[in-house]
This record gives sequence, structure tokens and C-alpha cells, in this order.
Amino acid sequence: MIQIKSREEIEIIKEGADILGRAHGEVAKNVKEGVTTASLDKIAEEFIKDNGGVPSFKNYNGFPYTLCISENEQVVHGFPGEKVLESGDIVSIDCGVFYKGFHSDSAFTYPIGTVEDKTMELLIKTKESLYKGIEKARVGNRLGDIGFEIQQYVEQFGFGVVRELVGHGVGKNLHEDPEVPNYGKRGKGIKLVDGMVIAIEPMINLGTKNIVQEADGWTIRTQDKRPSAHFEHTVAITKEGTEVLTTHKYIEEIIKF
Ligand code: MG
Ligand code: MG
Repeated sequence: MIQIKSREEIEIIKEGADILGRAHGEVAKNVKEGVTTASLDKIAEEFIKDNGGVPSFKNYNGFPYTLCISENEQVVHGFPGEKVLESGDIVSIDCGVFYKGFHSDSAFTYPIGTVEDKTMELLIKTKESLYKGIEKARVGNRLGDIGFEIQQYVEQFGFGVVRELVGHGVGKNLHEDPEVPNYGKRGKGIKLVDGMVIAIEPMINLGTKNIVQEADGWTIRTQDKRPSAHFEHTVAITKEGTEVLTTHKYIEEIIKF
């Protein structure tokens, strides 16, 4: 069942999303060659707690960390650890904040040092596809309009759209109805109505769309071991317009592409 949010609830989510955006910004300052991904997790956890939030992911269904950090062929749900970032890597950082009873959720994929041209194109086009999907997230449209837009945009570059993992409603629970696929048919799916809050999160592979799960029970990687990118925002759909509640602006003060 879809939980419709009041204007007051949307404002609370936006406040939490600001903490989340600034946590991403603190992490962004440290996303570079030579750092361990575990050190990034610590930065995010401390920042969120110091600013009155709770990390949404930590202990969610037993997930052990504040951040999902997914490198290169990893799609999502990777574990932070002792791996040191190197030039040529890409790294997806996904984070959620729980604040005054509501979650927010956003992700960004970074290039480390110099990455291959095709990989950089994957990052750029995946990020663009997120905003193209958001443009279709408006009252009166249907869920399929969002997925169609993302899919047709990235497939023209030969990229693969992950099918098994999708965006979702966001609210009192981190993952609520509806599911928000990154593929679909124009004009199909449920109608978007005033007060829906959803996370749109294209997960796009350089090669084929197929994925497998690693033995840790969490990490998802591409079957062909080619890179995958992931960008996400939490957005509120209202009759006054669609508002992006999460922000990448603190990240984009550090890294521009
Ligand atoms: Mg997320
Ligand atoms: Mg999400």
C-alpha cells in the first residue's frame, strides 16, 4: 500500500535529506586515491549522528554499515572495508538518514583519478538518466513513464538496465510501495498522485544487464564483471510540482562532471 505524505511530513523528510546531503558532502571531501572505504563509512556515521540523524542502513535487515559502497563491477549493497581506492576505480556511495520518524535515501557514483572514457560516459549518462526520470515523476503521469525514460535514454549508449533492483517509496520505512523500476512502458503502471515520495535510482551497467550476488549475501555485482553506476534522489510528487528532497550539491562542490 502506498503511504501518501502530508506537506508537514514532506518538510520533515527534506530536513533529514539536508543532513544526508551534507553527510555525502563530508564523504566527498575524502573520496580519493589512497583512502579505505571503511574510513568513508566512519565519516558518514559520525556526521549523521552528530547532526541529529540515525543512519538508515545500519542494521537494516542486518546490513552492518552506514554506507553501501560498491566499486567497479559491484552494482549496489557493497560493504565498506579495507580496500584502498585507486585511480581508475569508480565507487558508488549510497546513504540514508532517519530523522524525526522519516527516511531519505540518495546515492552518487564517483570516478577516482583517471577512469576509462567509456566508464566516464557511463557515469555521466547514468546521472543524466536520473534527472530525466525525475522530469517524468509528476502528478498524472504513470510509473512506467519514469522507467521508460531512464531505459530508453541509457540503452541508446549500449548500457544495460538492471532489472532485479528498483527504486521505491520512502517514508516511515526505508523501502515502501511502490516499486520504481528503471525500465518500463510509457503510460503503464500506477498513476502518480499528490503526496507520493519516491526514490528514483537508476542502476546502469556498462555491459549486460545481468547481475549476481556475492557470497557475503549482500553485494550485487555485474555478471560480466564490467562496471556499473548508480545515482539516486528521493523526490516528492505534489500538485504544485515535483521537488527533489535529497541533494548532491555538497558533493558537486567537490567533484564536477
Ligand atoms: Mg539508496
Ligand atoms: Mg533506495
